[in-house]
Amino acid sequence: MAPQALVIGSGFSSLSSACYLAQAGYEVTMLEKNHQPGGRARQWRKQGFTFDIGPSWYWMPDIFENFFADFGHRVSDYYQLSRLDPSYRIYFGQHNYEDIPASKEELYQLFDRYQPGSSIHLKSFLKQAGMTYNLAVKEMAFKPGHSLFDFVTPHTMTNEHLFVQSLRHIVRSKFKHPYLISLLEFPVLFLGAKPDDTPAFYSFMNHADLEMGTWYPAGGMYSVVAGMLKLASELGVIIKVDTAVERLEVSESKIRTVISTSGDYKPEVIVSGADYQHTESLLPAEYRNYTEKYWTKKTFAPSALLFFIGLNKKLKSVLHHTLFFDSSFDTHAEAIYDHPEWPDQPLFYVNVPSITDPVVAPIGHECMTILIPIAPGIEDTEHIRNIYYDSTIRRFEELTGENIREHIVIRQSYCINDFTKDYNAYKGNAYGMANTLFQTGYFRPSIRNKKVKNLFYTGQLTVPGGGVPPAIMSGKIVACEIIKKIKVDAYTA
Ligand SMILES: Cc1cc2nc3c(=O)[nH]c(=O)nc-3n(C[C@H](O)[C@H](O)[C@H](O)COP(=O)(O)OP(=O)(O)OC[C@H]3O[C@@H](n4cnc5c(N)ncnc54)[C@H](O)[C@@H]3O)c2cc1C
Repeated sequence: MAPQALVIGSGFSSLSSACYLAQAGYEVTMLEKNHQPGGRARQWRKQGFTFDIGPSWYWMPDIFENFFADFGHRVSDYYQLSRLDPSYRIYFGQHNYEDIPASKEELYQLFDRYQPGSSIHLKSFLKQAGMTYNLAVKEMAFKPGHSLFDFVTPHTMTNEHLFVQSLRHIVRSKFKHPYLISLLEFPVLFLGAKPDDTPAFYSFMNHADLEMGTWYPAGGMYSVVAGMLKLASELGVIIKVDTAVERLEVSESKIRTVISTSGDYKPEVIVSGADYQHTESLLPAEYRNYTEKYWTKKTFAPSALLFFIGLNKKLKSVLHHTLFFDSSFDTHAEAIYDHPEWPDQPLFYVNVPSITDPVVAPIGHECMTILIPIAPGIEDTEHIRNIYYDSTIRRFEELTGENIREHIVIRQSYCINDFTKDYNAYKGNAYGMANTLFQTGYFRPSIRNKKVKNLFYTGQLTVPGGGVPPAIMSGKIVACEIIKKIKVDAYTA
């Protein structure tokens, strides 16, 4: 009889680990508390509008391609991708924006326009960023993080400055124009940390951004979830939705029974892709890897205030992805990391996939999401959401010169309380834990429970970190840990 594996959650990490375990001969059941699978990447549909609730940037297409290749498939067997060009737009002030081109030549021209001669620096910066990408993805990201020595390789030994210096230091030593600095510092926001707390090693995010490009899966990011769900079901994985795991019962150092709202399970092995701290809360206290004190000391990545908006007009002033960097990056970061509070004049991001994809909104309409990064754990009330809704719509109109308020036909907000309720997210975090130096690799929460032999953790709180590609990698890492016989051939270029 095949060994039985139970996977908690149905986010990218859970889906990934379920597929690898099923491929290795496990009989896999996934239990998801929500009605719709996909975790933070669920989808919301209303009146002909289709919103991705979570991720919207598709970066690092090689990671997705490698995932499907591990099962003898290609991405195109499951969904269709196209590269966006321009990749995105950044507003720096009123009617003042720059489009970031997909073409490198045009990008060099853009840099030289703002800071003559800076394209030379950009070339060498991107060369180094490409090197760190290879280092990260080929040598480090697939390591389980059991030992500090996981990260001691000939390449890391000869490039130790990348771990000592911050990304901010490297960027600002070469680039002086504030717009260029914003462009090069913003990708680390995806890692949930400030550029001055992020090792220069993470410049691989700039490689992902400016070299590999921004892609779009037709139908939206949920098409990736749908593709992985299809693959999982082809591999025989059973998915039970509307099923919350309530308790993990331990005896003799093993989980013997998983108590869920749809009944009890007695699997050989358990992988949890639910938020780490929540998974631990399902165990008796003496079997947890970490105490509450541990979690309070960690730097969590931001949460987010989101507005899903349907417009009865087409927009001219924005692209599929538009960033609004008209206010101070540092002041906003302070309100997230240093003194958690609602920011005064936050940076925000607008996603309008209907500019690229007609299926996500009715004809002549636009499907728009506004995202404001905020500190996890701060007070979240309807009143506060409304204040930010009003001020952000007003700023959008002032900066772009385009009226939207009178064209809003549907509107829904999503914030800390929803992350907590929907995903059992610690402090309502959106992106997990920040990837600072001391929250990287070996320093992240362990993928193994040290006291319970058959419990493993996957997802954005473990290795390698937050974001869709790392979550997919995390599922593979934990599956490899369970099935030692699967070769961790990290990357097949
Ligand atoms: C607003 C937002 C925007 C983002 N933007 C991007 C982006 O543009 N690009 C990018 O790459 N990444 C982005 N991310 C990050 C990315 O979405 C996440 O890192 C990734 O989806 C996390 O996957 P996961 O499997 O670790 O966890 P999750 O997706 O959170 O999955 C965990 C699952 O466990 C379930 N669960 C919890 N408790 C239980 C229980 N007791 N029983 C059963 N099930 C349970 C939850 O319901 C959930 O489905 C974004 C995230 C958010 C929230």
